[in-house]
Amino acid sequence: MTDDRELSAPGAPGPVGTIPLATPNVGAAERLAVLAALDSGFVSSVGPEVSQFERELADLVGSRHAVATASGTAALHVALRLAGVGPGDEVFVSDFTFIGSANPVAYLGAEVVLVDSEPGSWNMDPALVEQELDRRDRSGEPMPRAIELVHVLGQPADGHRIAEIARRHGVMLVEDAAESLGAGWVDEDGSVVSTGTLGALGAFSFNGNKIVTAGGGGMIVTDDDELARRARHLTTQAKVPDVGYLHDEVGYNYRLTNLAAALGLAQLRRLDEFVAAKRDIAARYDAAFADLPLTLAPRVAGTESTYWLYSVLAEDQPSRDALLAQLARAGVGARALWRPLHQQPPFSGARTLGGDVATGLFDRGLSLPCSTDLRPEDHDRVVVAVRSWFGA
Ligand SMILES: *Cc1c(COP(=O)(O)O)cnc(C)c1O
Repeated sequence: MTDDRELSAPGAPGPVGTIPLATPNVGAAERLAVLAALDSGFVSSVGPEVSQFERELADLVGSRHAVATASGTAALHVALRLAGVGPGDEVFVSDFTFIGSANPVAYLGAEVVLVDSEPGSWNMDPALVEQELDRRDRSGEPMPRAIELVHVLGQPADGHRIAEIARRHGVMLVEDAAESLGAGWVDEDGSVVSTGTLGALGAFSFNGNKIVTAGGGGMIVTDDDELARRARHLTTQAKVPDVGYLHDEVGYNYRLTNLAAALGLAQLRRLDEFVAAKRDIAARYDAAFADLPLTLAPRVAGTESTYWLYSVLAEDQPSRDALLAQLARAGVGARALWRPLHQQPPFSGARTLGGDVATGLFDRGLSLPCSTDLRPEDHDRVVVAVRSWFGA
């Protein structure tokens, strides 16, 4: 029998005997929660688990409201629409991100402007944003409708600075926190501000490859009562409550199912455990690779990353490709980082601000196995496979 499962697909188990990149950590609590939801009769998009999931997520990130959605992409789509994004508008988006960040901009008939990463955090470079908005201000050119700030790989971007620049120029800030649940910025008093809560609206994802999974799902968070009400309205086919089948605008069928919410909620209650495991894995990789010619995963002062997908950079593309090939031979599910959006066919014509850093991350980057239940002996196997390629 051949095993045609892909070695390094995020969120999926790899072939038998290999070490997958990152798989969901689903246990007895999740099984019980899903069965209970099934038995309750609430399987679809109304039900107590959906509301409870929203409440607990809102509390956890410190947001007034959370509205569950069918996916992170759906959450971003609605969040951007609520930010006023429409045909002909521009939205600044990170060049280096998963394509799910950019597609919702296109759904709304708007254009992305792709902003390069800063080398330190691999996230949107605030200096490029500031230069461009200041330049437009001076020349009287129109501002983008919104900045969509992505926190890649669980590492918070320079959110306070970008929020300040956006505020100064009257631009809405929407956060794509799909990969950064559990991550945040450390305040002066030591408390942590969660990613997703700096902007007017934030979006999370509970896809199978994310730190907390609902199988699939997403969440919109906001402190604004009216935006929350509108988000709920748009995600439920714009149905006017308590009036028979009246829909007052074009909405979406974007609600999360109660079954998915039951799984997501049980997972959310394990977030601390998952974050601790990810940080532990990152620390062990950092220590094991300290003497190798690799750029290790970002460590940015004032931020708490979750190291959602632990990633490093090789010296150049040929050595990265050779290392990936060696790891594949050793049954290690490593994977290259994303192709920048400016190299993706749907967005290759987009305006860009820089792009060399994102291209370098694509050429030189690779993610290593980091499932939260990664066994120590498998972790050692990955370390040995990497070190032996360097002859170390
Ligand atoms: C996963 C992801 C999304 C999309 O979330 P889905 O739940 O898969 O639709 C959007 N942006 C980023 C950065 C992501 O990683």
